[in-house]
Amino acid sequence: MAAPTGSVAGTPITAAHVRDLLAQLDAVDLQAPAHGAVSFSFTDDRGALQAVATLRELRQAARRGCDEHPAGDCGCPVITAPEPTDAYGPTAAQHRFLTTRDRTCRHPGCDNRAGWADADHVIPHAAGGATDCANLCCLCRRHHRLKTFAPGWTYAMTPDGILTVTAPSGVTRTSRPPGLHFTGPRVLTRPPDQTAAPGPPPTYDPADDPPPFCSAAQAKRWVRSQFSCSRVHGVPPA
Ligand SMILES: [Zn+2]
Ligand SMILES: [Zn+2]
Repeated sequence: MAAPTGSVAGTPITAAHVRDLLAQLDAVDLQAPAHGAVSFSFTDDRGALQAVATLRELRQAARRGCDEHPAGDCGCPVITAPEPTDAYGPTAAQHRFLTTRDRTCRHPGCDNRAGWADADHVIPHAAGGATDCANLCCLCRRHHRLKTFAPGWTYAMTPDGILTVTAPSGVTRTSRPPGLHFTGPRVLTRPPDQTAAPGPPPTYDPADDPPPFCSAAQAKRWVRSQFSCSRVHGVPPA
């Protein structure tokens, strides 16, 4: 069963916000189910995900308050987005954030559920991309392979998760996290850089399947099959 979610506009999320929220929840007697957790999505006024927390984590944050200023209500955030990690694989907190933010594979037109998806580094880890939610998005195995193995495709993402995919033909499609409102032109903070020297090859999870093709012709056929989907408008056949 999907955990119910609630949203609170505004950032940062301070101890005062959390206590206020808990008071409202207590007023309606919200309790976590016996074998599950109630989880809350905190979004800003554009619907961009700020943080995810369970009811239990909210109660802990309200009790603990700010670590730096235990004496008073200082306005420091107590519920935040997951920290980046130096490791290749995302942390459990990052995984939770990403699946909450993305809900499905983020390849434009794909709606495979995020629960089955890989957390992909938009800028590959081997090329210096951080294991940070601002550089991670959910891709299903099929589209993860497309991104990893098919030449000529470029990917860029804004820190709030708007993903831009450019096919070798130059046709560009974007996808944004559900719930994020489009509020006008947006500048990609990290545009695709095709002039950069290629980094070392990406590291693969040994549990991953082998590449789906071993010749250029096979690769071309396979890439074409990725975009046979009618929901991906404007991408001409390869
Ligand atoms: Zn503080
Ligand atoms: Zn997909």
